[in-house]
Amino acid sequence: MAFEGLTEKISSAFKGLRSKGRLTEADVKDAMREIRMALLEADVNFKVAKDFIKAVTEKATDAEILDSLSPAQQVIKIVNEELIALLGGQTTRLTIAPNPPTIVMMVGLQGAGKTTNCAKLAGLLRKQQQRRPLLVACDVYRPAAIDQLKVVGRQLDITVFDEGQGDPVEIAKHGIDHAKRNGYDLVFLDTAGRLHIDEKLMDELKNIKAAVTPTEIILVVDAMTGQDAVTVSQTFDQALGINGVLMSKMDGDARGGAALSVKAVTGKPIKFIGTGEKLGDIEPFHPDRMASRILGMGDVLTLIEKAQQTFDQKQAAETAKKMASGKLTLTDFLGQLQQMKSMGSMEEMLGMLPGVDAKALAGAKIDEKQMAHTEAIIQSMTPKERDNPSIINFSRKKRIAAGCGLSVEAVNKLLKQFEAMQKMTRQLTSMARGGKG
Ligand code: GDP
Repeated sequence: MAFEGLTEKISSAFKGLRSKGRLTEADVKDAMREIRMALLEADVNFKVAKDFIKAVTEKATDAEILDSLSPAQQVIKIVNEELIALLGGQTTRLTIAPNPPTIVMMVGLQGAGKTTNCAKLAGLLRKQQQRRPLLVACDVYRPAAIDQLKVVGRQLDITVFDEGQGDPVEIAKHGIDHAKRNGYDLVFLDTAGRLHIDEKLMDELKNIKAAVTPTEIILVVDAMTGQDAVTVSQTFDQALGINGVLMSKMDGDARGGAALSVKAVTGKPIKFIGTGEKLGDIEPFHPDRMASRILGMGDVLTLIEKAQQTFDQKQAAETAKKMASGKLTLTDFLGQLQQMKSMGSMEEMLGMLPGVDAKALAGAKIDEKQMAHTEAIIQSMTPKERDNPSIINFSRKKRIAAGCGLSVEAVNKLLKQFEAMQKMTRQLTSMARGGKG
């Protein structure tokens, strides 16, 4: 995730503040100098960084704060509040038209992630708001663009409307008519991009805008391009008028400066972020949660939401029941493991927990290979063996090990772990029931 370097440096500045009982104005100014450097190194716009530090310093050097019982905590609180404000304050949702369909025009430079994120966003809103989305292929210059939209549409089972290489304005209009006639309430127009902003591109986008009056124009920018992403946002906004930004590729090693500068420079909020190449890798942008992640305080709410979206509630309840009665089988265990995997990488998930240091994680690499091994071992067992591991004798162990290409020791280790887990859950359950364990 972006911001790793920034998080580390801000945490170190905070640590310096916390180590002092009382704070002087000079202590706060020193810390602010560190944070300012960290912001600049993260590629935050120069003026944005300067204004941010000024705002925090003014509030944090107030006598009332310095004389308070926990001045360091107060300063951190101020940094957090200002950071939330910098990121846009409130979460800004996509506007939904009072009369369907809602028309979202997706614009951006080539390669920013427009086509992929059209589909991601359609999938997200279908899941979160039960919408019926339609994707419309208005990028007529690159035949591959239409095919690409069809591919991602098919993957998510979302209909794509296309008329080949026609006139993009007409295609947009026909697409919207098609939506109205067929009950689609959310239309995404995948417009053409260019390598650079040019007049021809802007004219075409303006023509589409004038012809269909979109509910929202969302600009897709690539977080990895840093301050260029901010300049592109400014130019599109001035020429076309945008309602918000979808910042893609926040999973990469972008330093994060673009995300921190866009709102302050353009006045337009980030509404969504792209967090990976998979079609489920998109999140609504919440300034408060992002500030919390940046300050190393985690993002438990997003983690819980991801878990709720991924885990089958009924199955989870059943597993909990089985665990409580000590009847958990290896089949249940495998199911849980597979659901965990579809939530995202362990590292990404752990990174959302408060106090987990991203750098330490990189050292202690969460063993995804181990998880894959566990899965392979369970998969080469018969259903009977999974339900009742006690029947697994040596010759069965040998067969299982050969089936998954691992050693008998690996099979033994897993069985021991599973046994220990079962024992522990039985003890916990009996303790919870007031028994003696
Ligand atoms: P377009 O030219 O703007 O339509 O861009 P595409 O949708 O074709 O995306 C360009 C590339 O960026 C593709 O390889 C996408 O898979 C990739 N991409 C898009 N969004 C993300 C993201 O959030 N994270 C990562 N890692 N890759 C992304």
